[in-house]
Amino acid sequence: MCGKVVLVGAGPGDPGLLTWKGKKALEQADVVVYDRLVSPAVLDLIPPGVRRINVGKKAACHPVPQERINEILLEQARAGHRVVRLKGGDPFVFGRGGEELELLARSGVDFEEIPGVTSAIAAPAYAGIPVTHRDYASSLHIITGHARAGKELEIDFPALVRAGGTLVFVMGVSALPRITAGLMEAGMDGATPAALVENGTLPVQRRCVATLATLTQRSAEMEIRSPAVIVVGEVCTLSDAFCWVEKQPLHGRRILVTRPRDRAGALSEKLRDLGAEVWEYPCIETVPLVPCPDMETALGNLKAYEWLVFTSPAGVEVFGNQMRTLGWDGRNLAGIRLAALGPGTARALSILGLRTDFMPAVYDAVHLGQELPARGRVLILRAAQGSPALTETLARRTIAYDDIAVYRTVLTGPDTVLAQALEEGAVSAVTFTSASTVRGFLRAVGTRADLSRITALCIGQQTAAEARSHGLRAEVAREATPEALVELARVCCQNI
Ligand code: SAH
Repeated sequence: MCGKVVLVGAGPGDPGLLTWKGKKALEQADVVVYDRLVSPAVLDLIPPGVRRINVGKKAACHPVPQERINEILLEQARAGHRVVRLKGGDPFVFGRGGEELELLARSGVDFEEIPGVTSAIAAPAYAGIPVTHRDYASSLHIITGHARAGKELEIDFPALVRAGGTLVFVMGVSALPRITAGLMEAGMDGATPAALVENGTLPVQRRCVATLATLTQRSAEMEIRSPAVIVVGEVCTLSDAFCWVEKQPLHGRRILVTRPRDRAGALSEKLRDLGAEVWEYPCIETVPLVPCPDMETALGNLKAYEWLVFTSPAGVEVFGNQMRTLGWDGRNLAGIRLAALGPGTARALSILGLRTDFMPAVYDAVHLGQELPARGRVLILRAAQGSPALTETLARRTIAYDDIAVYRTVLTGPDTVLAQALEEGAVSAVTFTSASTVRGFLRAVGTRADLSRITALCIGQQTAAEARSHGLRAEVAREATPEALVELARVCCQNI
């Protein structure tokens, strides 16, 4: 049976600007055929296991010609696949979306088009430029600044000048001098406000606000490169007052998040919401220990314990899987009390339908060991080589325990790209959510890296102690939660 092609607008870069319907299409795809302008953050939303075909086009050099792209779509659909054709911005706004549908329509292949947020509107918006405004512009014109190879620009400048309103040029960076000159020759005042927005909606966005007469020079000084949109019109005067992106507390800061990939999401998202550019670098991975005879024996003898203690969501997950294997539910835990090191772990328990009976006032192993109101025996299910602070404090209180490793953390290998980025000062700060993430990070960057300029944002005292022992400058969150870590990033990065 023939498949189907869904043409999806990926938006201008910020993954939050992908439409709901576009995201659903990605989740249901067998194959995604994408362009160079689709941002890595949007590509990250493609589920693992979905085949990706990169047909990225570079200006003046088309690695995959348009005809071939059309054929790939047809072949993939005919092979019975659900194909998503993912294109930057909106597919029908200078995106050749129409051309790609022609062959499919002629061949009787089913297709859909899901519009995207176009960079022609979103890039100005993220630079504080409303493309229309009742006081300044009552029309909007989107124009390509791209000339066909060897040809002159085919722009009717006098018509644009007569029409008034806001002009937005896409694909216009290399033709910028010709565009501004063309408009002025056609009678537009050189004092007309004009702007360029480079990498609009991405954390590395830059804007250049000038006048029609000075834009080319200012753009050269700032070395503005493609992709960028050119905006011409009175609305550009609003940019300085309205550029909300630059007012975000973490704007321009690059923060490395070292949590394991499956747990990085919430922290990264919160940092991004404050304007940071987040690099996710999973320095550790958690691997369940299966089979785990010690856990099986302990759970077989659960009545012997008063408390079941978890120190991480990963430990709760392994336990949850074991419950499923045993066909257990909450009733099998009747009489047992549950302790969690912090809110993240408690949340993981609540996903299993289990309420946490105890959490220490400070979310770390020492306080858990000191404050756990235990009389009977304690069962701890956690990582191999978990912090000895927990068992030492319990032992000091003569509380009997069984400390069972149910998963281990694996440090990822050396990473030269990361080491180089640190070397060049491209990273403002690194977040650490456990001592093992510190060890994983150091292994990734190597022992020779100069870490003196890096700020280590640590979730708790033990993590900070590990960071300091390797010569890192460490700051500690008010409490061991992602929210407090984000707050710490906000405070510390303002001074970097
Ligand atoms: N279909 C796309 C436009 C494709 S043409 C859309 O609707 O956005 C490619 C041009 O789009 C680039 O040369 C640049 O002018 C513009 N562009 C795309 N992404 C951009 C971004 N993030 N910031 C600024 N301009 C961008």
